[in-house]
Amino acid sequence: MKLYNLTISKAREAISKGEVSPSELVNAIFKRIEDVEEKIKAYVTLTKVRAIEEAKQRGIDIKKGIKKELAGIPLAIKDNICTEGVRTTCSSRILENFIPPYESTVTRRLKEEGYILIGKTNLDEFAMGSSTENSAFGATKNPWDISRIPGGSSGGSASAVASGECIAALGSDTGGSIRQPAALCGVVGLKPTYGSVSRYGLVAFASSLDQIGPITKDVRDSAILLNIISGHDPLDSTSAPISVPDFESVLGKDIKGIKIGIPKEYFIEGMDKEVESSVMNAVKRLEDIGAIPVNITLPHTDYAVATYYILASSEASSNLARYDGVKYGFRAEGKDLMDMYMKTRAKGFGTEVKRRIMLGTYALSAGYYEAYYGKAQHVRTLIKRDFEKVFETVDIIITPTTPTPAFKIGEKVDDPLQMYLSDIFTISVNLAGIPAISIPCGFSSQNLPIGMQIIGRHFNEETILKVAYAYEQSTEWHLRKPDL
Ligand code: GLN
Repeated sequence: MKLYNLTISKAREAISKGEVSPSELVNAIFKRIEDVEEKIKAYVTLTKVRAIEEAKQRGIDIKKGIKKELAGIPLAIKDNICTEGVRTTCSSRILENFIPPYESTVTRRLKEEGYILIGKTNLDEFAMGSSTENSAFGATKNPWDISRIPGGSSGGSASAVASGECIAALGSDTGGSIRQPAALCGVVGLKPTYGSVSRYGLVAFASSLDQIGPITKDVRDSAILLNIISGHDPLDSTSAPISVPDFESVLGKDIKGIKIGIPKEYFIEGMDKEVESSVMNAVKRLEDIGAIPVNITLPHTDYAVATYYILASSEASSNLARYDGVKYGFRAEGKDLMDMYMKTRAKGFGTEVKRRIMLGTYALSAGYYEAYYGKAQHVRTLIKRDFEKVFETVDIIITPTTPTPAFKIGEKVDDPLQMYLSDIFTISVNLAGIPAISIPCGFSSQNLPIGMQIIGRHFNEETILKVAYAYEQSTEWHLRKPDL
C-alpha cells in the first residue's frame, strides 16, 4: 500500500505501531504533491517547511509516549478556514495577502490532536460556485479526468483527498460544497447539522447555512474527524450547547429495520440514468442488509434552488460588505474614500461574487425585501417542515448527491443558472439545517464517480454514519483510485 493512499485510521495505526513515522508520512505526501499537483492544482498554498518541522516534533512526542488522536496525520484545509500565520485567501484577490492573526476553532481542535497542516486548498471564490472554476487562482481538476471539474466549492479539498495529496481534508458546505465535490471525486463528504461544528474562523458566506465538515477517503475517517471538530464553542453564538457522542463507536452496528425514505422529487424524468441506477442499486443493497425503503414526498423541493439563491446571496451581500480596502487585504488607489471603496471592490472581487452581491443587495432593498427575502424565509420554513414531517416515519432519506457525474471544465461557466442547478439535490439540506453525507455508490461508463446522499434528522449524524458505513463495507467503490 502506498503511504499517500492511507486513511486516517490506517495511518494512525501504522504510526502508533512504529511502522511509519510522521516524517515518512509527510514526506510521502509532499512527494505525491510533487508528482501530481501540476495536473490537479488542488492547493492555493503549501506549508511544506512548517509541516516537515512539525512532523519531526510529532515523532519526538510519540517517542516520549504522548498520545494524540491525529499525531502526525497530514491534512489539508479549505482556504476559507482561518489558520493563524498561514495565508487564507478564500481564492479571492481581495484576500490574496491576508494572514489571519487567529486560528479557527476547527483547526485549533485538530492542532490539539497533533495534525499536520499540508496546505490550504482551492475553492470557488468565497465558496460561491459548484465547480472550483470561480477561483482567482485558476481551476482545480478532477483526478478521475483532468478535463473535468472536481465539483465545488470545496473542489481543492476533494481532489486533494482523491489524488492522495493529503490523508483527509476539511471543507465547508453552504448549499452542497462538501457533498457535491466529494461525490464527483469519489470520496466521502459530510455536512454536519447546523450548529454542531463551530464556524469561528470560517470566512462567512451565508451565515445561516455555512457548516464546516470532513472530506475523507472512507466513512470511518469522517467519524474520526467529526469527533474532533464538533462540540460547543462559546466563540460561535450559533454553536449548539449539546454533548457529542462518539461517532466512531456506532460504526459496524446493525442497520436492520432502519427505514429509508426515497423522495419522489429527487428521482425525476430526464435525470442521468447511470446516477439513478447506481443510487437505486445502493438502496437495494441496503435492503439486502436489513433496511426498509419507503416512498416519500418532499413537496416543496421545487422551490429550494430559488429560495437558496435569494437567502444565500442576501447574507453574502451583507457579509462581504466588510471588504472595503480598509480592514482587510487588498486596497486599490482612489481619488477619495468612496472612489477607493469602489475600485477596491471592483478589482478585488470576481464576477460570480459581484453577481451574488448585486442579487443579494437587490433582494434586501427596501422596496423588494418582503417580495423576495421575506418570501424566501417563509418558503425555507416550508422546506424544513417537509423534512420534519417525513422524519416522523423514516430514519434517513436517500437521494443522489448530484444530478450528473463531473462535467467538463468550461461547460457551465457562462450559464450561471445551469451551474446553480448542479446543487439541486444538496441545497434543501442546508435550508433545513440537517446533516447529510455523500458516499461513493458507483461509476459511470466513463469511469467517473457517482455519489449517494444520506440525509438524517437534526443532530443525528450517528444514524447516517452507521448506514453509510454498513453500505461502504458491503462495496468496494471507495477503494478505487484514479490513475494519475
Ligand atoms: N454551489 C452553491 C453556491 O454556489 C453552494 C456553495 C457552497 O456550498 N459553498 O452557492
